Amino acid sequence: MQTTDKRCSRCPGAIPILVLTPEIRHYGKFVCPACTRFLTWARDPRTNANMQARQAEILEFVLDNPVSADELKFLFEIYGTAHLNLIQKTRYENILMGNAL
Ligand SMILES: [Zn+2]
Repeated sequence: MQTTDKRCSRCPGAIPILVLTPEIRHYGKFVCPACTRFLTWARDPRTNANMQARQAEILEFVLDNPVSADELKFLFEIYGTAHLNLIQKTRYENILMGNAL
């Protein structure tokens, strides 16, 4: 189970609890169990797995295929990005399919 080092400034002894927030874009949030104050967002556990799979895919692609300087720059930019936006996702898929933009 995910934890956080954040603590409520009003309730220093209280251990934050994780509340899932499926109704919004964020996976969940940590709140103070004593006063219900919001402390920090919780990360979707699938995010790291997805990012690591994409990083492996990028490495494999760059080693096996000729890429232009622009493509390489773009791949560096998205390498550590957890969530690609639609423009990034489209460009990434085009590069993998060999359709340079
Ligand atoms: Zn509190």
